[in-house]
Order: sequence, then C-alpha cells, then structure tokens
Amino acid sequence: MMLSEKSTADLPVFQFTNCWILRNHELQREDLWVRDGRILNPEKLFFDEKKPADVRLDCKGSIIAPGFIDVQINGGFGVDFSVATDDVGAGISLVGQKILSHGVTSFCPTLVTSPQSVYHKVLPQIQVKNGGPHGAGILGVHLEGPFISKEKRGAHPEHCLRTFEKGAFQELLATYGCLDSVCIVTLAPEMKRSSEVIQELTKRGICVSLGHSVANLSQAEEAVRHGATFITHLFNAMLPFHHRDPGIVGLLTSDQIPPGRQVFYGMISDGIHTNPAALRIAHRAHPKGLILVTDAITAMGLAPGRHTLGQQVIEMDGLNSYIAGTKTLSGSVATMDTCVRHFREATGCSVETALEAASLHPAQVLKIEDRKGTLDYDTDADFLLLDDHLHVQATYIAGQQVWRHNSFVM
Ligand SMILES: [Zn+2]
Repeated sequence: MMLSEKSTADLPVFQFTNCWILRNHELQREDLWVRDGRILNPEKLFFDEKKPADVRLDCKGSIIAPGFIDVQINGGFGVDFSVATDDVGAGISLVGQKILSHGVTSFCPTLVTSPQSVYHKVLPQIQVKNGGPHGAGILGVHLEGPFISKEKRGAHPEHCLRTFEKGAFQELLATYGCLDSVCIVTLAPEMKRSSEVIQELTKRGICVSLGHSVANLSQAEEAVRHGATFITHLFNAMLPFHHRDPGIVGLLTSDQIPPGRQVFYGMISDGIHTNPAALRIAHRAHPKGLILVTDAITAMGLAPGRHTLGQQVIEMDGLNSYIAGTKTLSGSVATMDTCVRHFREATGCSVETALEAASLHPAQVLKIEDRKGTLDYDTDADFLLLDDHLHVQATYIAGQQVWRHNSFVM
C-alpha cells in the first residue's frame, strides 16, 4: 500500500494551462492536472505533497473535453468488422488507430447481422483492451442483430435474421458462441420471448438496445421494464412517430420508465440519416439521453465508390451510402467529430451539450462514467484539445498524446 502510493507520487505531474475544461456540464477556466494516466485533484497535490507540476503545457485557449466514445461503428478505412478474416484484430487496430484523429478514444466495434459462423470466428478474436498510442480503447462489441425485425432490417441481410424459439437465451448463446467481450446487443423487443433474453443479458451486465424493430410503445416500455436502456439509431429502422402509438420513439417522453432509470438513444447526426428538424425534436424532448454514434461503415475515410458491409455491397457518394442498386441507407461515413459539429449546428445546442453527447452519455449507457466520459478527478485521462469550432487539435489517452494536428503546436 505505502509502496504503491509512493511510486505514484514519484510519477511526473502534468499541468495543462490556458484552457477551458468541460467539468460539471460547463466549460470552466481551470487547469487540467494529470498523473499516472489519470485526472488529478490539484488541491490534494498542493496540500498533501506540497509540490508543483513537473511539466506545464500551454493549451493556447483550447477547449479540453473528455475523449469521444463511439458505441456503434461497423468499420472504416476499408475495414469491415463483420467479415470473418483470420486476423480480425489487425482490422480493429487499424480503425482504432485512425479514429484517434477524430477524437475517439474508445469504441465498441459493431457487427451487423451475420451468419452464425461469422460470430463464432470473429468474436473470440476481439478483446476488451485499453487505448494508447496504438489506438482507441476497445470497450466491448456491439452486436446489432440477428434477432431483429424482417420489415425493419434496413441493410441487414434477410437470410441471416433469426427469431427466438424455445430456450431463447440458450439459442442466442449458441448463435453468438461467446458473450465475453460483448457489451451491447441490439434486438427487436416485439419478438416472442424477447423479455427472457433482455433479462438474461441485463443480468450479465450487457446493455440491451432496441432497434430494427416494429415495436409499439407498450412493447418498448415492457422491454425497458425488463432492463433495456438504449435505443439504436433513433428514427432509423423503426416505426415512424404516430400520435396514437408513437412506437419506440415514444420512450423519449414515456411516463412508464421505472424510477431511477433513464433511456438513452443513439443518433446518427450526419445530416443524412436524420433530418435536422427530427434531430431537434429528439434533443428537445430528451437531451440527457442523446448519444451521438457514427454507425460508420467500411467506406468511412475512403474514396467514393463500391465497398462492402457484412454480406452486402454498398455504394458511396459523398456522405451518402446505399445498398448497391437501391435507395436503402446503409450506415454512415461521417466521422465522430463531424457528427458533433453537425449536431451543434443543427440543434443550436451549447458546446458543452454537443461534447457530452459524444462522451458523458455513451459512458453512462455503458455504466463506465466513473472512469470515462468525464474529466472528474481520478478518472482516466482520455481527453481532447479542440478549437472553438470543435475541430480536434490533439487527442490524449491515459494522459499521453496519441494524435496531434500538424498545425497545432503546444
Ligand atoms: Zn442499424
């Protein structure tokens, strides 16, 4: 005990000065102190150890925000997480490395509906892992499907869809093969026997998200009572809002959410998947639940043209991507920092609100806000330096600079 305290106290203290830091939902004119990969309480340092910082860094008036957390990303930069290769880790590492420049310090690699053989090959190859100079941290896998609605399957291949038969949870286990590295499962709650599955997943600490579904509001509320806490890309792949039965969208203003619980919802804020007016409706109805996700596919970061998404071929043109030969949207190619800026512009929200939708809220839905998604004392020092227009200037993981824009000198 004494020994470890002493060794921590010997590590260098970094003081980031001349900055605005996002703390307690507000940008504050304060310094950020870091030691041993964590945010440090400077008062303790002054009073207990009576020592100043070892290194002072002038941030030139930048905003310092918690690192972005992307809970729905299917791939990018030519990599498709849903393809069963012999070296899935290499693809994940590449994406994890590239997204540092977009401010993402941890993420949930997402698999779209796939054949059982793909889950069995891919899942054992993905490990939860800390981030660092090698790339963003891996928080766990997000499995989107195959237990989703045929009518609302969107870009998911129909022949791979599954229903829950007898022994529903055992069947889910058999399909995925392994849940060790899984942290989110998206399913359609109107499916028979889904309650049992939602309870079992929740019991294991896995976040259940509702999506690709034709559920009505009472089915969605029942799913929440059983433990579901998340909605997958709100408005997309679900029943449109209807005033007599608002469907899953109605959860945003439902009075049937159990006390002390909160429902979060993912939004693809790329200006294509959701009209800005719809984005504003969701944000104004339930601002604390909004989570920005990229839902990015292989083609993010690539040139326009034909690319793959799981079992499908997709066509990309600017920020639009469709299943080849159709008008079915197939995931986005916008990066997280673009989504944050678009969200702020579209809703007119504060800088703080835009930043928390990509950091605090995803940490909360994953129940890791005690270590990520904030700049509170003793949390992981995963953070970003941004300019006033929310362009990322530098990215830090565990207190270490892992990316910096060419033009930004500190
Ligand atoms: Zn989807």
